[in-house]
Amino acid sequence: MIVDHLGRQFRNLRLSLTAACNYACTYCVPDGKRLLPANAELEAEEMVRAVQLLIDTAGIEKLRITGGEPLLTPKFDALLPAVMQMGLEDVSVTTNGQLLPRKAKLIVEAGLQRINISLDTLNAEHFREIARSGDLETVLKGIELMLDAGLKIKVNMVPMRHKNDDQILPLLDYCLERGIELRFIELMNMGHLQGNALFEVQFFSMQEILDLIATRYEFARTDAPFDSTAARFEIPGAGVFGIIANESEPFCRTCSRLRLSSNGKLYGCLSNARSHDMNEVLQLPDALAMVKLQKMLSSALGDKQLASFSGEVTVMKFIGG
Ligand code: SAM
Repeated sequence: MIVDHLGRQFRNLRLSLTAACNYACTYCVPDGKRLLPANAELEAEEMVRAVQLLIDTAGIEKLRITGGEPLLTPKFDALLPAVMQMGLEDVSVTTNGQLLPRKAKLIVEAGLQRINISLDTLNAEHFREIARSGDLETVLKGIELMLDAGLKIKVNMVPMRHKNDDQILPLLDYCLERGIELRFIELMNMGHLQGNALFEVQFFSMQEILDLIATRYEFARTDAPFDSTAARFEIPGAGVFGIIANESEPFCRTCSRLRLSSNGKLYGCLSNARSHDMNEVLQLPDALAMVKLQKMLSSALGDKQLASFSGEVTVMKFIGG
């Protein structure tokens, strides 16, 4: 077992299927150009083997499939059914939802139980200003399809001052009405936002979110799982919402996340650009691969921050949010 001095272990794997995305969100992409796949991305079969090796070596229990936009690549169609058969405690997908209507049948047939859908506003015009692509109605249709199929949904929203802070309450109402858990993600100091005055202007804190919600609802903080990234709040009789407060309430001390990028690089920490190349390991037979991987994972665990998220030049689209 690979454990550090704070008792942290890798339990949750975030797998980025591709760096390509059909959106170019202002907080993720600097120049508004939609993203292309990274050089030398792994094939679906290589990713499936990588996941199995990480289960066997690190004790991964939960898998989140992300990107880029995971639904954009045909790899998703091959990988999802395969990872659903691996006996993991939990498999989930994070998507911008634009291709959900097209992939709904595959998702339901594969037996996925949980899905996270990113949605920053219910205003169609502002939606296109933030995502710089896509269509709000298509995402909303995708959400309805997932609800009809009985999946548990979380909606991820990144509140930004003067951009979509007016959508905090409308989105909360929308989610509560449908039994969806809304997750507010504090804007992260990543990629082009590092050292950029825009970050200071747009950053909307956990306390500000709570103050705004308090104008309409009474709520109380509830327990969240030990290694959860989100602070969770219950509105009695109405539902639950969460805040991923990487700045206001960092969760580094209990972080159990490991990331595998679409081109085979392992990252032990979102706030550390250091990576560990798994490509060579994937050329080896299982026993030898696991020995090499043990060393790599010990080193990757050492990349984690001690207490707080300090931001990184690394861009979320490459290593999977
Ligand atoms: N394309 C998929 C999606 O939109 O959900 C998966 C990848 S996306 C990088 C994963 C999540 O990261 C999204 O919910 C997005 O809002 C969030 N994200 C990206 N950059 C961020 C930033 N600078 N601060 C906070 N959240 C960010």
